[in-house]
Formats: sequence, C-alpha cells, structure tokens
Amino acid sequence: MRKRIAFFLFALALPITAQQRAVTVDTHADTPTEYMQHPFDLGAWNTRGHFDYPRMKAGGLDAEFFAAYVPAKYANNGAAAFCMKIMEIIHEMVDGYPQWVRYAQSTSDIRRIVAGGHRAILIGIEGGHAIEDSLDLLRAFYRFGARYMTLTHTNTNNWADSSTDEAKHNGLTPFGRQVVLEMNRLGMLIDISHVSDKTFYDAITTSKAPIFASHSSARVFSDHPRDMNDDMLRAIAKNHGVVDVNFYPVFLSDEVRKASKERDERLKSAIADLKAKDPSEGEVYQTELKKLMDANPLPKVSYTAIVDHIDHIVKVAGIESVGIGSDFDGIPETPKGMEDVSHLPEIRKELDRRGYSETDIRKIMGENFMRVFAEVERVSREMQKVGNAGR
Ligand SMILES: [Zn+2]
Repeated sequence: MRKRIAFFLFALALPITAQQRAVTVDTHADTPTEYMQHPFDLGAWNTRGHFDYPRMKAGGLDAEFFAAYVPAKYANNGAAAFCMKIMEIIHEMVDGYPQWVRYAQSTSDIRRIVAGGHRAILIGIEGGHAIEDSLDLLRAFYRFGARYMTLTHTNTNNWADSSTDEAKHNGLTPFGRQVVLEMNRLGMLIDISHVSDKTFYDAITTSKAPIFASHSSARVFSDHPRDMNDDMLRAIAKNHGVVDVNFYPVFLSDEVRKASKERDERLKSAIADLKAKDPSEGEVYQTELKKLMDANPLPKVSYTAIVDHIDHIVKVAGIESVGIGSDFDGIPETPKGMEDVSHLPEIRKELDRRGYSETDIRKIMGENFMRVFAEVERVSREMQKVGNAGR
C-alpha cells in the first residue's frame, strides 16, 4: 500500500508532458464563415465543406482554431460588431455539440479536454481591423475568447501593412507596436499570416513573446507574398516561433499560382458581369462564380506538397519551427488526397515515410504550436506581474 502511495506521489511530481499524450492542433479553419452563411449539422459527416466534428475525429485532430474572420469591407465600417457576431457564432458551434467538442482558451484547457476524451475548439481573429484601432476592444475580444489575431487580412489597416495591399505605414505604426505589446500582455498570440514582410519584421522585433503564422507556407515553392521566404523562416526560428503550413494549392505550388493569376486575368470581364448582376456578392454571385471556376480548373497538386513545405521549413528553420494551419473552408480548392480534415493522418504517414521520428511528427502535428502558446501564456503572466507591482 505504502509503495502504491509512493508511486502516486512520484507520478504527481512528473512533468505534465511526461504523463499526457501529444496533441494535434490545426491553427486555422474558416468553418465559422461557412456555417454563418449556410448553417449545417456539425455533428454529422457532411459531403460538402472541409470540416465537421465526425471528420475532425476521423482525422485524429485534437484541437482546432476557428477563425473569426472579419472581411476587409467592414474595415472602418462595423468591423468590431461583425467580429462579435462571428465569435458568438463560434461559441454556438461549440455549445451546441457538447458530445463532440469543448471550448478552450489555454494550453491547459486543451490538455484537460483531450485527456477527457473530447476535442477542443479555440478562437482566432482574422483581420486586425476588427479592433477598430481600440485597445479596449482588443481587451474585450480577448475576454470573449480570442487567443490569436492576424495583424491584418488582405487589407492594409490603420496601423499595419498587409502583404496583398498597398503599403502605407512601412510596416507597423507606433500604435501597431502598442497593439503587439498589449497582445503580449493579454496572452494573445501575434499572428503574422497576411502581413507584409516589413510588418513581419516589425512584429518580431516588437513582440516580447514568440510569434507565429497560423496559415502560411514557404515562398521558395510559390512566389506569393502570403508565403514566407527563407530569411523570415530563419527569423521565426531565432524567435522560437512557429509557421503553420497552409494547404492552399496556390500557396503550395508556383505552377498553380501562375495558372490562378492567368485565370483571374482571363475571367476578369466574366467575373465583373457576375458582380453587376448581384452587386452584394450574395448567393447568386457565389453560385455562379463557383460554376465559372469549376469550368476553368487549375492544375492539381498532391497533398505530399504540404510535406515538401514542412521538409523545407525543417531544413531552414529546424524541427521546432513548423506546424499545421490548413485554412480548411477558407480555400476554394485543396490538394489531391487532402480533400477535408479527415485526411490529416496522410500527412503523418508521409512524414513517417520520409523518416521523421515519432517525436518529430508529434512536434509538427501540434506540440510545436503548444510550446509557443505556453510561452505566450508565460510572458503574459510575467508582464501582468510587473504591471500589477506598481498598483
Ligand atoms: Zn487567411
């Protein structure tokens, strides 16, 4: 009996990581936008879209960050209200399915939920314009559950330049730096997916905690400003951050990127005609656009391209610097063999085929991200201690 008690005490003293199994994390899915526009049963295996809870389970995925995506058209025009609306929808997407998922807002939440046999859903804001240039709104969004924020979306906002818009600030403005520091203090991850290269470097030199890319790939394979070049990858390694690879074929392959650009040019007037028919870009526009795109397909890329990106990031930045950021339901096409979240184990298998150890695979599939998130939490606690000391 005494032996048993001694063992129990010994087990309690073990570091958490030694007792708990590794978790798999995907840091970006746009399922809430899809759900908001076309509500569906998340508890059923759907044939449309990329994500629902049965498919999440089949894919062996323990934790997903749902994107509270705020379209650029709301910038300076109701962005915060829209952000609250989509975050509320995410809470409903979780609360309505207690048999499948639990809501999480910390690394310890994720570990506890997974240990209890459930899957975790977290919230990340997509588009820094959501805070309407207000640190009070940023704090309110944190309290409502947001645990990361992309500093920009496709638009340059009032304090940060985007990778896909005109640069107006040469990176981050002084207020943009304040946003980064307040995110550090709150314990919100700084997400540099979508920002310009200069904003990336400004964020990395400003942030007191590691930063991350929730859904960006390697530019060496596709010369797209949404992807990260080798110098940026090395900077992430030095910062102990993580790059979570996006599955969008346009970001994975230069051949697809070029074909997509050429197609956009070719179909420009046809798309303009569709917009004229449905200026609000509603249901009619969306349906017709999809038909047009389906009739003009892009070259296909295999899911192994995702692993090529992982390989490259490992080579340039090390095994600690890479993770998974699918962008499911946010991308019009997926690679062949990665049609939805249920296919995630294929990545694991391909990593195994390429000689990665089980420990390395665990890091890539989620533990690298968990390390960064835990460090962000630690820095937040430190900053709040210092902040409170003077009160
Ligand atoms: Zn995005």
